Amino acid sequence: MEEISNYIKTIMAEDLKSGKVDEIVTRFPPEPNAYLHIGHARAIITNFESAKAFGGKTNLRFDDTNPTKEDNEYVEAIKADLEWLGYHPNNVFFGSDYFEATYQKAILLIKKGLAYVDDLTQEEISKYRGTLTQPGKDSPYRNRSVEENLDLFERMRNGEFKDGEKTLRAKIDMTSSNINMRDPIIYRIIHLEHHRQGNKWCIYPMYDFAHPLQDSFEGITHSCCSLEFDNHRVLYDWVIENTEVKHIPHQYEFGRLNITGMVMSKRYLRTLVDTKKVTGYDDPRMPTLVGLKRRGFTAESIKNFVLSTGLSRVNSTVDYQALEEALRDDLKLKALRPNAVINPLLVIIDNYPEGQIEYLDCPNNAEVLEMGTRKIAFSKYVYIEKADFIEEKPNKKWKRLALGVEVRLMHAYFITATSVEKDSAGNIIAVHTTYDPETKSGSGFDGRKPNGNIHFVERTTAIPADFRIFEALILPETEENKDLDFMEKLNPNSLTVVSGYVEESLKNTKPLDHYQFVRNGYFTTDKDSTKDKLVFNCTCGLKSSFKL
Ligand code: ATP
Ligand code: MG
Repeated sequence: MEEISNYIKTIMAEDLKSGKVDEIVTRFPPEPNAYLHIGHARAIITNFESAKAFGGKTNLRFDDTNPTKEDNEYVEAIKADLEWLGYHPNNVFFGSDYFEATYQKAILLIKKGLAYVDDLTQEEISKYRGTLTQPGKDSPYRNRSVEENLDLFERMRNGEFKDGEKTLRAKIDMTSSNINMRDPIIYRIIHLEHHRQGNKWCIYPMYDFAHPLQDSFEGITHSCCSLEFDNHRVLYDWVIENTEVKHIPHQYEFGRLNITGMVMSKRYLRTLVDTKKVTGYDDPRMPTLVGLKRRGFTAESIKNFVLSTGLSRVNSTVDYQALEEALRDDLKLKALRPNAVINPLLVIIDNYPEGQIEYLDCPNNAEVLEMGTRKIAFSKYVYIEKADFIEEKPNKKWKRLALGVEVRLMHAYFITATSVEKDSAGNIIAVHTTYDPETKSGSGFDGRKPNGNIHFVERTTAIPADFRIFEALILPETEENKDLDFMEKLNPNSLTVVSGYVEESLKNTKPLDHYQFVRNGYFTTDKDSTKDKLVFNCTCGLKSSFKL
């Protein structure tokens, strides 16, 4: 899918036309402190697609200016996610590589009387900051001399002070109507090892100071970010204006993408992993890109979904079903359609010879005949879905098997159910049937119409498989639960595992192979599969509002 025009591309086109810029350069700037979620896909796609539309460039820049939760594991994961989505950055940069240059710009601000070292504690700074309705107050340290500030800042860098003991603040306006302009902190002390810089630094620049400088150093023309940075733009421009940089970047905002039933915040994802409510960031229930991939969503479907949501300056919430629809659109005419029986019930064909197996022709995808055919096994013993049998046909709408009723086993023969075997608890454990040899599929038999067409898997060749069926991790919002924390709204049924069988053609299946299991939905092979037992994740049903 091509990205449709949007206001950011309109601005880019104008800037190129007016000569304000020679080429478009964008960046995607994740903080390497978590795995990417599908919300990030909007930021990725916006930055890469808009630059691509004008033959421009896009950098991947790790915004690693806070050592607290950053780790190389996330750096590698984010690179892999971009690769999977099909985006190849022109450059991979790290914000931390600009620490020296950023430090020099802070010194420049001090020399210009535009930054000062403050001794107020974090709490005092918050108190002095004022509120939306009340102006802030100047810190008693605001008027330190340039010399004293230079000296203190250097000593901050040299590790003479403890975390929180001092900060460097931009000297702007404590009465500004925009709280971000009330002398924002631009450097703080953190004595922690950095994932790339080790212990070289113990002062770290704040996002609002580091980000515009990084954009400038890299020659970014259009710095696109989500809407919560809207009222930081004035500070972005202030930093650019006052640091004597060569290149002037501009910030543009777009609305965040939310999806019903998915909570997209790193804090939430981390809590789920840390409290072992999920098996990891790539648990197929997670809204992470690695989770969605393992669940069976294709990169193409995620891209098409995100593009179909458009782009605007308002946050939007899109129905989860639209994502499923994008997957079906992508795979409907591409995926093989093998037989899987998820909740098996044994069917015994009493008049079929014991020990005989025959192989029948079956299309690989009934809607795309060019995808060819394969042979499926048939014998006296086959599995059908439990849901495809009922003892007594309830009404005319029942188009499956029942006692005294004849159906077609898909691509095989007509069978009629004659009796059931039950265990001592009264559960049906097998259905006895007879088949009509005249009715073989493809023989042209049209003597009578069967009461339905149901799929099956032959018993001796069947491969045991676990099928993981998912529901949303979070329960739908109700009047009662709307104020609860997400951890109290976890859906206890988000994962159900059922054991059944797949046909033998799947014996060489590999993780991430995609299938449409006939009449059951879209599934993908999981990496937990073993030789003896395959594991499949249900990506989504065949239709929206699908329920097993
Ligand atoms: P979170 O808010 O989930 O913790 P974040 O915004 O702090 O994530 P970053 O690593 O800073 O995570 O994100 C990189 C980029 O992705 C930022 O430019 C951010 O604006 C953008 N982004 C994050 N979530 C969304 C979303 N739901 N929709 C659109 N863009 C997003
Ligand atoms: Mg962020």
